[in-house]
Amino acid sequence: MIKLYNQLTKSLDEFQPIEKDNVKIYTCGPTVYSYAHIGNLTSYIYWDFLVRTLELSGFKVNRVLNLTDVGHLASDADEGEDKLEKGAKKEGKTVWEIADFYGAAFLRDFRSLNLVEPTKIARATDYIDEDIKLVNLLTEKGYTYETSDGIYFDTSKFKTYADFAKLDLDQMRAGARVKFNSEKKNVSDFAVWKFVKPGEDHAMQWEYLGRPGYPGWHLECSTIIKTVLGLPIDIHTGGIDHIPVHHTNEIAQTEAAFDAKLANYWLHCNFITIDGEKISKSLGNIFTLDDLKERGFTPLDFKMWVLQGHYRGERNFSFDDLAAAKTRRLNWRNRIALAYQSKDFSDCSEKKFSEIEALKSASNNLNSSEILAQIDNTCLKLEDWDYIDRLLGLDLLNSTPDRTAELADKIEAREEARKAKDFATADKIRDELVKDNITILDTADGPRWQYLS
Ligand code: AMP
Ligand code: ZN
Repeated sequence: MIKLYNQLTKSLDEFQPIEKDNVKIYTCGPTVYSYAHIGNLTSYIYWDFLVRTLELSGFKVNRVLNLTDVGHLASDADEGEDKLEKGAKKEGKTVWEIADFYGAAFLRDFRSLNLVEPTKIARATDYIDEDIKLVNLLTEKGYTYETSDGIYFDTSKFKTYADFAKLDLDQMRAGARVKFNSEKKNVSDFAVWKFVKPGEDHAMQWEYLGRPGYPGWHLECSTIIKTVLGLPIDIHTGGIDHIPVHHTNEIAQTEAAFDAKLANYWLHCNFITIDGEKISKSLGNIFTLDDLKERGFTPLDFKMWVLQGHYRGERNFSFDDLAAAKTRRLNWRNRIALAYQSKDFSDCSEKKFSEIEALKSASNNLNSSEILAQIDNTCLKLEDWDYIDRLLGLDLLNSTPDRTAELADKIEAREEARKAKDFATADKIRDELVKDNITILDTADGPRWQYLS
């Protein structure tokens, strides 16, 4: 039994898929106008753990991740500058080049974090025809109206609009009076299609209603879900920032157009801060995986840091904590190295690791930190590490090749030199091993090799 916190019911619910054994998941992906920062990547690591938990529980996962490669406006209020267009101007490239470049960079990051490949990665620009069909359908059903700058969804016509995020529409109305787009009927109404204004420099545009335009930014998720997965899906994931606007609007337009529920479970991850501050350009604290690599950390050290916390918790990132996560991962890899060197585990007096306990923690609303503590406090056989790799995706076994046979002669030569009190030779061998990223641990059972990093 898997329990997940569901934004829809606002409670911890027992997970039941619509189709037996087959789980349909959709993850709102990045807007590909710059490199993903560690805040963005944190969210995909949490959802990777969700997928792995479901798969190890016997479910087949059918998962779609989208890449927002079509420009949308910088603010939730359908106003401001288009992120992709802005990125293109800054770098002197076309919007298409920007989307291709940063889309590829994102997928590289995704793979270097050893995240389970989604069944499909859908690019928003491949679904413009479906977007237009959706707008037409909403218009036919009387949910839209036209203003001078686009086609808007009339949220007052969708009676449960405020429920998902528990929105206080009266307060929103009062708060927005000053900068309220006067052509909008309600403050919460949102664009499903935007017109390119005469003279506006908007490279990504499609013809609709006899004039150039582009889809509103919530549209792609609705059309991709409907087209690729079919309605309803089991689980929809995203960040908490998506609750009041993006997901609220996705639900409204999808359910209004197709008369079907969008998703049964909604999971949202909380935000990470860095040294107590929000991640933002102005604070200069946007770190990418490459920035971490420059400071001597691997993507999987970062993944370990993410798994030490919970997707619903507020988290603070610091390089000291990342260093601790790196040490923990190295310790585990060296336990694997020890397991290679001692086939007999009968001397293991501690509690033995249990797959059942680990999966129980994972199934309890994705409690990864509890699993890490279990690993720290139990002894594991090689097959247990294999299970841990499948559950956490930390690539422990692969990144810890068994060098026992290859190192045997050197270790023996060093032992003999020590016995003969030829310390110069023994030290020389030790120094060579250090250069090869290996150190020798003298244990009661004799010398054992370990990785240095
Ligand atoms: P974006 O490309 O800005 O749409 O972000 C991609 C994903 O990362 C979204 O699901 C966001 O909710 C999530 N996200 C953005 N910033 C953070 C952060 N500081 N901590 C955790 N998740 C974040
Ligand atoms: Zn979305």
